[in-house]
Amino acid sequence: MNTVVTVTLYDGNNDILSGVMELCRDYEKMLSRTVEGSDIFNLNNAGGNNVLVSPQTAELINISLDISQKSDGAFDVTTAALTELWDVTNKTSAPGQDLISEAIKTVDYKKIKIDGQTVSIPLGTKLDLGGIAKGYIADKAAEYLKNNGVTNAIINLGGNLLILGDNNGEPYSVGVQKPFDKNGEIVLSVNTDNKSVVTSGVYQRYYTQNGKIYHHIIDPKSGYPTDNDIDSVTIIADSSAVADGLSTACLVLGIEKGTALASQYGAEVIFIESNGKITLTDGLLADYSTTVPNVRLK
Ligand code: AMP
Ligand code: MG
Repeated sequence: MNTVVTVTLYDGNNDILSGVMELCRDYEKMLSRTVEGSDIFNLNNAGGNNVLVSPQTAELINISLDISQKSDGAFDVTTAALTELWDVTNKTSAPGQDLISEAIKTVDYKKIKIDGQTVSIPLGTKLDLGGIAKGYIADKAAEYLKNNGVTNAIINLGGNLLILGDNNGEPYSVGVQKPFDKNGEIVLSVNTDNKSVVTSGVYQRYYTQNGKIYHHIIDPKSGYPTDNDIDSVTIIADSSAVADGLSTACLVLGIEKGTALASQYGAEVIFIESNGKITLTDGLLADYSTTVPNVRLK
């Protein structure tokens, strides 16, 4: 997953901790697009033919498709040709328009065919579950912990946070980072328990060319990294997979459409714009605290 996994148990034992880490590794082997023999690797190399995937991969593809439909394609796991082309972690200059136009032709979630565990994607199309897999794995990790009697834990998959239980009867306070701040300053904290808190931010992976930021979240309609002045989106939801998918989708959609999408899932959202303005959905207004005095709301 190219990320640090931290699981903190407040009850349970070392065997459970080892078990949950093993589970994360198993899911990576199933869902990573770069691990040879994973379901996603097999699909991307199947030449358009059917592939029999695990029930979990099928479930995650179905969750992804639901978010794709509700976001009108702002979230689309067939964007791999574009993410590979931009490859912002390794490249430092933007690809040419001709290459972007070619890659964008392979992007269309509607062309994923799924029937039970049998999946196919068109030849040339590639899947990338990077926008949702961490959340899904966090959900599975939480399920494993609960099945083993753990009632209180924090699962952190590279900033994708899942809180199991509460903080001695009180909510946990989860900080939301100030985008691009090198010192990790927190702009506000959300008080929550038994929820997932997931942030997508343009500052998480990017390079700068001629003063412009090129980051890792792609607008599937333009083929370019989103350019809508939203620096980060934080989702608070029951399901970590949904929170993860929505954080990516809402970053593409912006405040108005993003809020409408999140409400369909009963999720709350924090948008931070590049001018520092913060917008919270209504369910959060009563339940946050700012640590920065000049924070601008709505
Ligand atoms: P996240 O950090 O959860 O927002 O996920 C970002 C990752 O999702 C990127 O690194 C890509 O692998 C993938 N991705 C980028 N743009 C999209 C998109 N519009 N829809 C779905 N996945 C995307
Ligand atoms: Mg995401």
